[in-house]
Amino acid sequence: MSWDQVWIDINIATMSPSISTPYGAITDGAIAVKDGKIAWIGARTELPEFDVLATPIYKGKGGWVTPGLIDAHTHLVFAGNRANEFELRLQGASYEEIARSGGGIISTVKACREASEAELFELGRQRLNALAKEGVTTVEIKSGYGLDIETELKILRVARELGKHHHVDVKTTFLGAHAIPPEFSGDSDAYVDLVINEMLPKVVAENLADAVDVFCENIAFNLAQTERVLQAAKKAGLTIKLHAEQLSNMGGSAMAAKLGAKSVDHIEYLDEADVKALSESGTCATLLPGAFYFLRETQHPPIDLLRQYQVPMVVASDYNPGSSPLCSSLLMLNMACTLLRLTPEEALAGMTRNAAKALDIEQQVGILAVGMHADFCLWNISTPAQLAYTYGVNACVDVVKNGQLVHQ
Ligand SMILES: [Zn+2]
Repeated sequence: MSWDQVWIDINIATMSPSISTPYGAITDGAIAVKDGKIAWIGARTELPEFDVLATPIYKGKGGWVTPGLIDAHTHLVFAGNRANEFELRLQGASYEEIARSGGGIISTVKACREASEAELFELGRQRLNALAKEGVTTVEIKSGYGLDIETELKILRVARELGKHHHVDVKTTFLGAHAIPPEFSGDSDAYVDLVINEMLPKVVAENLADAVDVFCENIAFNLAQTERVLQAAKKAGLTIKLHAEQLSNMGGSAMAAKLGAKSVDHIEYLDEADVKALSESGTCATLLPGAFYFLRETQHPPIDLLRQYQVPMVVASDYNPGSSPLCSSLLMLNMACTLLRLTPEEALAGMTRNAAKALDIEQQVGILAVGMHADFCLWNISTPAQLAYTYGVNACVDVVKNGQLVHQ
């Protein structure tokens, strides 16, 4: 047997549903890697004989190996920050006063329009590094802070470049319909026309996006506008997803499910009929505990219904400067449990197996099994629940991406 590397002295949370133990766990396991993929995985006592002199052997000191974490919903390419507005609000300023002083999403849009590709790339790289240190090996990045043709394309190009130059894999999402830009204030239909007729064809022509997303909400785009964008995206052959049911129930999730969306995200106001629709279409429910926390929301997403209808639950950071300035995968695991009451196993599935489903890459990553990409992390923990339990101690020891040990 000839392999590129073998890992022993590890316990493995495979997250594979075909292994019936919690976390799909294999205690005292072993993993063999060949050509960037998992060539063998199982109990160490069953490891076939191999050339121990010619094969690098890594010892995990009894720690746990999990699939590389997947952050399936971020907005991490942006310029500027909103600390000033955060401070003003805590000093008692109203939303109107903040908006009048140039705050809110428009301040981020302005900063992104002014930033060069190189500046955005460097900011994005630093944020990817922070996520990678906490075991993230795949990330989704959305546009949506340009709201004009040039800047939307610029953000997507930067996201694509990050994927080429960083060991973390990047999936990109075109979110031109994130907010109504000031130039179109009072005429959101005309902006939707621009998104569909001018931005989307350019995004497709340059192959800048893997998916298309819309913010369906009373402060953003209505149901009819949302459906128009999603239909156009489908026609262009792109995967669709939706920011929906965050502040109210507009019916976006059920509509997106009918169109075959891969995920609906936020979903605090989802009702039982919506959950049923997700279950029927195989759409994932993406929970964003960072935004729930930062906006001090009180409406909880319907976790029990999602469990009852077996809708795959995803956990993501929603990393963005306005509503979730929290660039940490481990904090999301913790908050998914403390704030949204997921079990630690559900939270970890939300950043591995189910996140892969939401990004349509479950044939490659998200669980540890023969034939899957060798994307995994070694953690200095004694039980997988520890990943979600503690916060502030990064137990990530090693990361392997496509069979390569990543030195962080
Ligand atoms: Zn978001």
